[in-house]
Amino acid sequence: MIEAAPTAPTLARWLTGPRVTGLPAPLCEGPPPLLSFEFFPPRTEALEVQLWSCIRRLEPMAPRFVSVTYGAGGSTQARTHATVTRILAETALTPAAHLTCIGASRHEVDEVARRYWDAGVRHIVALRGDPPPGEPYVPHPDGYRYAADLVAGLRAIAPFEISVAAYPETHPQAPGAAADLDNLKRKLDAGATRAITQYFFDTEIYLRFLDRCLAAGITAPIVPGIMPVSNFAQAARFSALCGASVPAWLGALFEGTEQDPEIRRMVAAVVAAEQVRLLQANGVDEFHFYTLNRPELTYAIAHILGVRPTAPRTAGMTGG
Ligand SMILES: Cc1cc2nc3c(=O)[nH]c(=O)nc-3n(C[C@H](O)[C@H](O)[C@H](O)COP(=O)(O)OP(=O)(O)OC[C@H]3O[C@@H](n4cnc5c(N)ncnc54)[C@H](O)[C@@H]3O)c2cc1C
Repeated sequence: MIEAAPTAPTLARWLTGPRVTGLPAPLCEGPPPLLSFEFFPPRTEALEVQLWSCIRRLEPMAPRFVSVTYGAGGSTQARTHATVTRILAETALTPAAHLTCIGASRHEVDEVARRYWDAGVRHIVALRGDPPPGEPYVPHPDGYRYAADLVAGLRAIAPFEISVAAYPETHPQAPGAAADLDNLKRKLDAGATRAITQYFFDTEIYLRFLDRCLAAGITAPIVPGIMPVSNFAQAARFSALCGASVPAWLGALFEGTEQDPEIRRMVAAVVAAEQVRLLQANGVDEFHFYTLNRPELTYAIAHILGVRPTAPRTAGMTGG
C-alpha cells in the first residue's frame, strides 16, 4: 500500500510556495498605451449595422488607427474600400486599408492603392494573402511575389504609412524561423514602419520573438496582435490554420463553458486582460486588437489598460 505523503498544514503550504508579486497598476504609471483596432468588412446589411455599432462604441477610445481587412484573394475589395472611405468621411478615426497582392497583377494592385490615396487614405497594411485552403501559393505572373515587393511598390506610388505582418511563431509556409525573420526585416527595410503580429496566447513566445527581432537589427515597433477569444472551439480551429499555438491551459480555462456564453465572455476578458497587463508590465505600450467587429471585450481590456474615452459616451452605449 502506498502511503499518502504528509500534507503540510494549510497556512504552511500557502507560505512556502513561490511568492508572486502583483502586476503594476496601469493607471498610476505613465501615459495610457497606443491602441489600434481591426475590423472586417460586412457581408450583409445586418453585419453592417453590427460593424457600425462596434465602430461607434470604440471610437471614443481614440485609437491611433483602425484597420479594415481585405478578404481572401481580394474578394472584399469593394467592401473594404467602402468601409475605409466611410470611416474617413463619417468618423474622427484614421483608417488603414489592408491590401493583399495574391491573385492580382501589379497594375491591378497599384490601381487599388492609387484609389485609396486619391480618397485620402494614407495608411496601408501590406500583405501577401493566402491561397485557398490546401492549395500552394503561386505568385501571379505579373504580380508582386511577396509582401516586401508590395511594400516597395506602394512606396513608389505615394508616401503611404505602411504596416506589415509579423509571426512570433513563424509563418507556416516559411522555410524556417531565421528566413521568416529575414523576410520581416526586408519588409521594414522596404519602407514599412511597423509590424503587427499574428495573435498568440503565450506571452513568452512574443517576448522571445522581440529579442530575436532586436538581435536581427529591427528597431521598428512589433505591435502585439491581441485576439480576445470568447469562442474557444472556433479560435482553436482557426489557430491550427494560421500557425498560432493554443496552450493546454487555455483549453482548460474554457472547458465546460460551451453552453454558457456569459461565463465564456468573463473568462475571455480575464485571459485577455492578464495577457495585455503582462505585456504592459514588460514595457509594451502599443496594442492591436482583432475585434471581430464586437466591441465589448476590446473596450473592457482597453479600459483595464488605462485608456479612457475622450468624448462623451454616445447614445448606443449601455451599462454602468
Ligand atoms: C496583422 C495581420 C493582418 C492580416 N490581414 C489580412 C487581410 O486583411 N487579408 C488577408 O487575406 N490576409 C491577411 N493576413 C494573413 C496573411 O495574408 C497571411 O498570413 C499570408 O499567408 C502571409 O502574408 P504576409 O504579408 O505575411 O506574407 P509575406 O511577408 O510575403 O510572407 C509569406 C511567406 O513567404 C515567405 N517569404 C517571403 N519572401 C520570400 C522569398 N523571397 N523567398 C521565399 N519565401 C519568402 C515568408 O517567410 C512567409 O512564409 C493578415 C495577417 C496578419 C498577421
